[in-house]
Amino acid sequence: MGTDQIFDYAVIGKGLIGSAAARYLSATSDSVALIGPDEPSNWQTHDGVFASHYDEGRITRILDPDPVWAALAKRAIAQYPAIKRESGISFYHNSGGLRVIPDPEPVQAVGHDLDVTFHTHTDEALRQAFPYYRFPEGLTGLFEPEPAGYISPRALVRAQAAVAQQQGAQIIRERATSLQIQTTEVEITTAEGSSYHARKALLAAGAYTSTLLDRKLDLTNRARTILLAELPPDEQDRLKNIPTVIYTMQGHPAFDGIYMLPPIRYPDGKVYLKIGANCPPPQTPQTFEALKAWFHTRGDATEARHLKDILFDIIPGLNAVSFHTQPCVTCYTPTKRPFIDTLKENRLYVAAGGSGSAAKSSDAIGHLAAQLVLTSTWTDSLDRNLFKTSFVT
Ligand SMILES: Cc1cc2nc3c(=O)[nH]c(=O)nc-3n(C[C@H](O)[C@H](O)[C@H](O)COP(=O)(O)OP(=O)(O)OC[C@H]3O[C@@H](n4cnc5c(N)ncnc54)[C@H](O)[C@@H]3O)c2cc1C
Repeated sequence: MGTDQIFDYAVIGKGLIGSAAARYLSATSDSVALIGPDEPSNWQTHDGVFASHYDEGRITRILDPDPVWAALAKRAIAQYPAIKRESGISFYHNSGGLRVIPDPEPVQAVGHDLDVTFHTHTDEALRQAFPYYRFPEGLTGLFEPEPAGYISPRALVRAQAAVAQQQGAQIIRERATSLQIQTTEVEITTAEGSSYHARKALLAAGAYTSTLLDRKLDLTNRARTILLAELPPDEQDRLKNIPTVIYTMQGHPAFDGIYMLPPIRYPDGKVYLKIGANCPPPQTPQTFEALKAWFHTRGDATEARHLKDILFDIIPGLNAVSFHTQPCVTCYTPTKRPFIDTLKENRLYVAAGGSGSAAKSSDAIGHLAAQLVLTSTWTDSLDRNLFKTSFVT
């Protein structure tokens, strides 16, 4: 297959950042290709690439200790209504978000700077405000009401791609295997045997970004395990209004913190509470084969055992009828801020390295990347050096 057409712009990676960038590029140009496969129907037998967004819940909130992430989230959240309106696809839930931490000051300071509404609760006040949760004494809870909540990352990708397509972008459901930079264009060849050409290309392939480059970016993939607790109807009802949780733990043998989402209905029709951890990486799958091998597992059993214990500590008396686990991957930069940069002047650009935080802010990251691709310059008020790439030496 393939086409003789030379696209103005090609985005490689139909994930959260790539689909957002394609929406912005296609608002300006009617010659955009968004190249990337759909989620595989069977993970166990799938032989291609996977993604970090194959799930139904990602926490969205502005409050963050890092002012840059907070600013990106604020911008992105402001676009949710337009994305929903233009796509007709719903992806956002306004549950509010609770952050439980030992030292609230840095987060509060960012919240004040960005004019974020939040309420501070300690000990007894925290228990009274959120009676179904239990946290150790001495911690502070910062509750951020709507627009904090959660999004379905799958639905957000569908929504962004749908708007891009309405605006004339071509969606090409293929896996890129190589990028060749030529004098006036980039040639993208795919595992399906096609070849596409674009004057400018944006690489947004998440954990796979470096696999398509000769010179490897300083990106580290971290294997993550999530635990899903299936809730019976009465428990769904009891917990239906709980906010998301980000909990910084002290003295835990495995984790420095966890995050948790409220009851969410998954594609199998069941309702699950989801919990995952921020922890030292047990595995760092970098290559195509290592990523595939990780996604063919059910995640890490030790991590899952810890997560289950913590879940029962946080929600005493939780009634779950079953548990299962799933693998995922997050892709980190050394600065823990995304790379949004030029790889080859006027030809190849990159937007990757969400560092476990990019789902909620993917629209803003895609916007910054699209502006860079369109203009070949950095015009945004955020300093471009915050997003500069670095390479493995
Ligand atoms: C368990 C877990 C929990 C998380 N929780 C949160 C959260 O609560 N809040 C939050 O904001 N963020 C969260 N994140 C992070 C967030 O999901 C990621 O930062 C985000 O998905 C990164 O977006 P991306 O577009 O870079 O990557 P992806 O969404 O993975 O998209 C990359 C795309 O590139 C495609 N691709 C790869 N290789 C190729 C190729 N060769 N050719 C064509 N296409 C290719 C893939 O198919 C994929 O669709 C979480 C991540 C994980 C794993």
